[in-house]
Amino acid sequence: MNVLVINAGSSSLKYQLLNMEDESVMATGLVERIGEATGKKIYKKFPDTDAEAKVEREEEVPDHRAAMHFVVDMIKDAEYGVIKSMDEVSAIGHRVVQGGDHFKNSVLVDASVKEIIEQISPLAPLHNPSAITGVEMAEELLPNVPNVAVFDTVFHQTMPERAFLYAIPHSLYEDLKVRRYGAHGTSHKYVAKQVAILMDKKPEDVNVITVHLGNGCSMAAVKNGKCVDTSMGMTPLAGLMMGTRSGDIDPAVLAYLAEHKNMTIEEIDNMLNKESGLKGICGLNDMRDIHAKSEQGDEACKLALEMFSYRIRKYLGAYAVVLGSLDAVVFTAGIGENDDIVRSMILKDLDCLGIELDGEKNKGRISEAKVVSTDASRVKAWVIPTNEELQIARETVAVLK
Ligand code: AMP
Repeated sequence: MNVLVINAGSSSLKYQLLNMEDESVMATGLVERIGEATGKKIYKKFPDTDAEAKVEREEEVPDHRAAMHFVVDMIKDAEYGVIKSMDEVSAIGHRVVQGGDHFKNSVLVDASVKEIIEQISPLAPLHNPSAITGVEMAEELLPNVPNVAVFDTVFHQTMPERAFLYAIPHSLYEDLKVRRYGAHGTSHKYVAKQVAILMDKKPEDVNVITVHLGNGCSMAAVKNGKCVDTSMGMTPLAGLMMGTRSGDIDPAVLAYLAEHKNMTIEEIDNMLNKESGLKGICGLNDMRDIHAKSEQGDEACKLALEMFSYRIRKYLGAYAVVLGSLDAVVFTAGIGENDDIVRSMILKDLDCLGIELDGEKNKGRISEAKVVSTDASRVKAWVIPTNEELQIARETVAVLK
């Protein structure tokens, strides 16, 4: 059974075709800068033993329809393709960022599902409309293939009210659905399940804190396989310090800025999302650049690193208490997988949590699941590369079954 995974952003479209008999990747790629003067189309097939396995083109991609055409054409292309006809694609799994509290599971897409995804769009204005476009393009180009919506928010739907409600008038939840939804759920779910498998346990027998550190950063407290709390909120602005996002902040600062700097709500929102986080403190948002300058003695970069790690340590403490007992902490995504310095800043001196980092095991970039704590460490620290595409494909297969 082959599953095509589509992750449509506002100006990009990531895709992967997987053979779910053995969960192997058949082809993957990315279409970027959709709607701009020069777009970029990338296609790669597996196994990539020959030089012909990769196609890269810089050319205009006017809209998502053109992007989807590229995907469909390439996977069945006579020269580069991996299938002969679209009949060999059994289903399409779509990443949808926001499912509100309507969706407790991944679902087969029909007209009513599309309508609800559209209704929830104000909660994810940059993402949900692109997902609907992705589904509509798939329906047009692969008319007989079922579409499955896999929501980032579903994994966090098991949070109890005490964790997902804000302490504001309850009517705002009843009328406008203002609450914590969380994000990166597909990634948290994948690594939480993988760590249980790797520890030779059932997911329902382990308590884990998952730490997703990429451009966006979030943590989840996972008790017996179910998410009980997460750091992102109604939107992906809350919680940890991120590349350009502030994370947690006293909400009174917003009113103060409006009054004393004459900023509009839109300007404040833009500042918190795009000019804050690591960038706000040191002017840079790529962790590699921050390390490079920090090593040259740049004080602002050193401070940004300290703040970034400190916030994560605070959440580790909070979530350890939320869980009551802890088996493992898992790092994933760009920074979590590749940055040994940040991992060691986070995990230093954590006797109180029973975590002892092994400096040797922690060294360098980690591309395969690995324990980075000592053998004696009561709680294990893991690095597990995330695989959101595989998780979406697994969910798609589960829905069809
Ligand atoms: P992601 O959103 O998962 O692609 O992660 C992007 C983040 O990972 C950026 O902040 C990158 O700077 C960071 N990153 C990628 N590679 C490395 C590396 N080798 N060392 C430190 N950070 C890295």
